[in-house]
Amino acid sequence: MSVSAWVTDRVSTDRVHLDVAACGRISQAALEVEVAHLQREAEVGGYVAEAEAEATVTRGREALGAMVGLDGSAVFLSEGAAPVFAALLAAWPLERGARIGVVPSEYGGNARVLRSKAAVRGWELVSMPVDPLGRIADVPDGLDLVTFPQVPSQRGITQPVEDVLATGVPLLLDVAQSLGQVEVPPGAAAYAGTSRKWLCGPRGVGFGIVDPAWHDRLPDPPTLGGLEHSDLRRFDSSETHVAGRVGLALAARTWSPALLPVLQAASAAARVLLEGVAGWQVVEPVEEPTGITTLRHESADAFATRDVLVKEGFVVSALPTSRADDVDVPLLRVSTAAWVTPGDLDALAAALERCTR
Ligand SMILES: *Cc1c(COP(=O)(O)O)cnc(C)c1O
Repeated sequence: MSVSAWVTDRVSTDRVHLDVAACGRISQAALEVEVAHLQREAEVGGYVAEAEAEATVTRGREALGAMVGLDGSAVFLSEGAAPVFAALLAAWPLERGARIGVVPSEYGGNARVLRSKAAVRGWELVSMPVDPLGRIADVPDGLDLVTFPQVPSQRGITQPVEDVLATGVPLLLDVAQSLGQVEVPPGAAAYAGTSRKWLCGPRGVGFGIVDPAWHDRLPDPPTLGGLEHSDLRRFDSSETHVAGRVGLALAARTWSPALLPVLQAASAAARVLLEGVAGWQVVEPVEEPTGITTLRHESADAFATRDVLVKEGFVVSALPTSRADDVDVPLLRVSTAAWVTPGDLDALAAALERCTR
């Protein structure tokens, strides 16, 4: 799909939406297939409707797998990237004493899962050295697994995934924020992703993508779901909002890599425009190829400012320090999907001047 067709397909809004890193805008077409699925559930029952939707959902798995060079049989579906991450970590074949490379920018919820699982299973978490913006500077020797978000929630930087892959250590890559925002290299052992952010699918749907070399090495998950499957679908959550999977399938199939340079250019423009406005400082280098701009302030309150901006029609995020170990003050986050116009950014800069609290 072309960039302009993708943008025109969005459900229209009276807001300036600069928050795709939290939750994107679904397309009219995806909304319609979701509603049609709900209608069908009401008519023929959820299980018959689910069976009817199976081919559609399978095409969605194929589209997701293809984003990292794998096919649909490498994909399982769940409710978000965080449950996928937890399921993969629980299943990963790691002995007591295994060493896992981690980063300070790890997503807060995942960091908690890592710490608690490591304590129970006797793994050692090895903090990898990073540069001042949190980019991995070196992968220590002797690791059994490496895991990190390719783009963290709290910073518009991208990790050197290719360099990490070159070390040969299996990589569990969190692509919740990166898939749809930046290029995601093939070759990781597994990926954990989500529907609602840069793919602009519905909320409450996530997916895991696992290299086939690992499928038989992962034990059955300790859940009640997926018992009829012996392939990777045994990791699917069994009871689920199937309409969401139908919506994600369409969102994944209509997403296009042509969106990347457009959304990244919008962020470069945002960084130039917002630097210094009402005392806010842009954290990211202008040319960093991501769609996230974060702002920090000596004295203003990111949450209070966000609240006023939202009231004025500008959808942005405030990030708490609990988001990751490397966040020392709450931040304001502006994220630019391909629908963002220069006029939107000018309006935001003016609003930030008025709304800073
Ligand atoms: C949003 C996010 C997650 C969690 O995704 P959910 O779909 O909410 O479970 C994990 N990691 C990163 C980097 C994220 O931005």
